[in-house]
Amino acid sequence: MFCRICHEFLRKIIDKYIIMKIFGINHPKWVVIQLLEHCNLRCRMCYEWGETGFYHKKKELAILEYKVIKKVITDCLPGKPYFGLFGGEPFLYPNIEDVMRLIKNGGCGLDIPTNGVLLKQYAEMIVDVQPDRLWISLDGPVEINDEQRGKGVFNKVIQGIDALYEIRESKNYKLPKIGITYIVTPFNYTFIEEFFLKSIDIRKIDHLSIEFQLFATEEQYRHYLKILANEFGVFSAPCAKAIVREPSDFAAMDFKVLADQIRKVRSVCDEYGIYFIAYPKTIELDNIVNFFSANWSKMIDKRQKCVFPWMYAEISANGDVSVCHTYYDLVIGNINVENILDIWEGDRLKKVRKFLKKQPYPICTACSRYYADPNKH
Ligand code: SF4
Repeated sequence: MFCRICHEFLRKIIDKYIIMKIFGINHPKWVVIQLLEHCNLRCRMCYEWGETGFYHKKKELAILEYKVIKKVITDCLPGKPYFGLFGGEPFLYPNIEDVMRLIKNGGCGLDIPTNGVLLKQYAEMIVDVQPDRLWISLDGPVEINDEQRGKGVFNKVIQGIDALYEIRESKNYKLPKIGITYIVTPFNYTFIEEFFLKSIDIRKIDHLSIEFQLFATEEQYRHYLKILANEFGVFSAPCAKAIVREPSDFAAMDFKVLADQIRKVRSVCDEYGIYFIAYPKTIELDNIVNFFSANWSKMIDKRQKCVFPWMYAEISANGDVSVCHTYYDLVIGNINVENILDIWEGDRLKKVRKFLKKQPYPICTACSRYYADPNKH
């Protein structure tokens, strides 16, 4: 009897050790921190500050205290996670350099998505601190980009990229890698080729990501709301609501034209050795049609499960922690009142994982992590 109990006990410890080894579950392996909600642009398609963005309704914008961020980073460092910093616009954060140095001096990788408007101003500092990569958002040639992001934005961003590139090259550094993110919308989808192959000097770019505008249907949103209420006692989901659109918004797009352009850009990337990502990954006509017509169950990139809640923590500017990118509606804790590692091992997250072990959320198909490779940042 005693031996059997011992055996079971040992088995549990070994199982836990194996899970920890595989998923590093005692520390998150990827930590994304929203430093602040403030942004210096009002891009039309943005889920935060765009036409349907939910930050417009906020009376007060949130910003994380530096001492709180410092504690989170220090607590997570033993797990050597990969970090991401975003906003709003992360380069508006007053202690941005301190946060970047803390992460890099701790020996961790760091990505920063940015609208690029402040790059020129911070280029020296950025090259000096050496984040691994900047993801800079541009949506098309000058007129198209500025129609979506604001007048004069394109030229400011290009000046920033030039400054960053020149300083990095003059120091003979490999980092930061310069990445461009292009979000494909009905408005800009015919300009992908022109943008990458004519409007910018693609040889200055190291990484390139073409991402379809993510959306959820009203039906998915309502189903998600029900799950939040029944399973987790959460009764509103403004983050998910902001992403709701109808497939009819995309119906006029010529998907063949879209696919042809992406394939052409991808072949130029192959030629120049540029790291290429597309969300969704499979650029085939049927797959694209299924994506934009909300026929996600027919997609080649369809997933049954998501592993992010076992490896990923995202902290919003008000301190709330979630395990899903941008869906802060389901909060598992708050770093202003709890330790990140206690949240990571807490009962709330166990409940979330238990649910997600069985099935994804209805809105997962509108999450960029759904299309991402968990082993690549
Ligand atoms: S795919 Fe779903 S479970 Fe995974 S991170 Fe996104 S919303 Fe969360």
